[in-house]
Amino acid sequence: MLNDLLDGNRLWSAKRNADEPGYFERLATRQTPEYFWIGCSDSRVPANVISGLDPGEVFVHRNVANVVHSADMNFLSALEFAVDTLNVRAIIVCGHYGCGGVRAATEDLPHGLADHWLAPIRRLARAYALDLAQVSNVEDKRDRLAELNVVEGVRRVAETPIVQRAWGRQSELSIHGLIYGLKDGLLRDLGCTVTTPTSQTEPLNTTGSSFNPMTGDAR
Ligand code: ZN
Repeated sequence: MLNDLLDGNRLWSAKRNADEPGYFERLATRQTPEYFWIGCSDSRVPANVISGLDPGEVFVHRNVANVVHSADMNFLSALEFAVDTLNVRAIIVCGHYGCGGVRAATEDLPHGLADHWLAPIRRLARAYALDLAQVSNVEDKRDRLAELNVVEGVRRVAETPIVQRAWGRQSELSIHGLIYGLKDGLLRDLGCTVTTPTSQTEPLNTTGSSFNPMTGDAR
């Protein structure tokens, strides 16, 4: 199995170098990505591949169900490096439909440590229980919850002192919420972009947004 992986790597490296001589030498000197991507660990949602970006073009943090925990040192360290050192211009919080983490958060089953990790999604489900109850299909309900999790993630990123400081020094920095469809390979903009320190104080489903995460309607 490992040999397959190493063979694949050698092929990729050779092809890349043939297509663009000097590619690796150039990339080895520095990285200047414009995007910081916060996504799900799901193997079907690789940031570079689905966004059509090359190595060096997107700085990535992934975890189960793309949860933004405000005290997660792993996430905060990556965010600080992306904002303060790499000077990224856009932060993308990307969820996906059919997310196993979101599904686990809606199940009445024990999942071990994941239950701690997914607690914010369970809280979101409780907070929006009335709205989610209007969606009859259980898969659609989970997909709505995945959208809500992205919108909440955008808000939490905007609230971090790291991003607030960046805006305080007039850095051009925007935070966007996207959701990816496993069935069609397309990214959708949830319209919850935040670009200023004040817009993140608005209620969850109106945060700088023309998108209603409960109905999917643009307003
Ligand atoms: Zn997922």
